[in-house]
Amino acid sequence: MSFNSILGQGQAKHIIAKALQHGTLPHAYLFYGPESIGKRLLARQLAKALNCTEQGPADACDACQSCIKIEQNIHPDFFLLAPAKSTPTAREAVIKIDAVRNLQSKLGYFPYEGRTKVAIIDSVEKMNPQASNSFLKTLEEPPSSTLLILITASPNQLLPTLVSRCQGIRFHPLPPESIKEILLNQTATDRMEPSEVELRVLRSKGQVSRALDENVAEIAQQRQELIDLLEHLSWDRIDLLFQWSKARARDKDRVTEVLEELMGLLRDIAFLKTQNNSELLLNRDVAHLLRPLASKKSLAGLLKFMDGVQQTLHALSGNANVQLSLENMLLQYCETT
Ligand SMILES: [Zn+2]
Repeated sequence: MSFNSILGQGQAKHIIAKALQHGTLPHAYLFYGPESIGKRLLARQLAKALNCTEQGPADACDACQSCIKIEQNIHPDFFLLAPAKSTPTAREAVIKIDAVRNLQSKLGYFPYEGRTKVAIIDSVEKMNPQASNSFLKTLEEPPSSTLLILITASPNQLLPTLVSRCQGIRFHPLPPESIKEILLNQTATDRMEPSEVELRVLRSKGQVSRALDENVAEIAQQRQELIDLLEHLSWDRIDLLFQWSKARARDKDRVTEVLEELMGLLRDIAFLKTQNNSELLLNRDVAHLLRPLASKKSLAGLLKFMDGVQQTLHALSGNANVQLSLENMLLQYCETT
């Protein structure tokens, strides 16, 4: 795989290509941006290019021993550090100081087989404070012939001292055409209907994992349920309010997901009130169901209700009673005109 075959991330690839061409790589990069948009892929590609015996360091061939070993995580000069759970029941995976020390000891040597040692530190925000402080020393006095690539989706959670010692490269959500290409290239999705591909692309937010993992049947059902509710709920059918809230409260773990889905639908309905262009909807495939809903409420009413849904989401992130919160939220929908 050459740099060119990595989809999207033109700016990041350009910066890296220039640095490789001029031999001006920094000691440490910080790749940051949303999950699942190609940060790890590009980091590994860079590690390959730096050590490729055929096309390096400008690019990687993916066929030489060095490229193959890096792909398989068995190259002696390639290191991957990622958060791990200390016990199977631990709540959160973290990067501990022992793991950092272990990496530091390995970086102390000259490259064993390749030209440049590359260490990828994935989800670097998961380093606990001791690990961060220890790692800071490596950044302050970088080992020779070594490139460190720090990866994070949450750069604001990093120590400023850590960020300031890296060259930051921002990664962006992938464009719809790239997500589509990735979906069409997945063997598991061979039989995917074009309408499903479109739905997945629309909902992916430019993130590959979202596009691949989303349970389309479940979403379709969830959306239909919400559309039915918005269509029929009124003072005359207040029974629906209690019915729905009670049913949803039984499935507490998924309430946030359902309310976020509701926000997406409301956003589209509000959008349809101001414009007739359904091409820009998140739920384009059900535009014909949303259009009648747009005439039920005023724009001000819809926006007020969206505000209510947001407040409910916020309340539920605390310890609010789920059923009561949902009932109150839907009462607002009945009240708005
Ligand atoms: Zn190679």
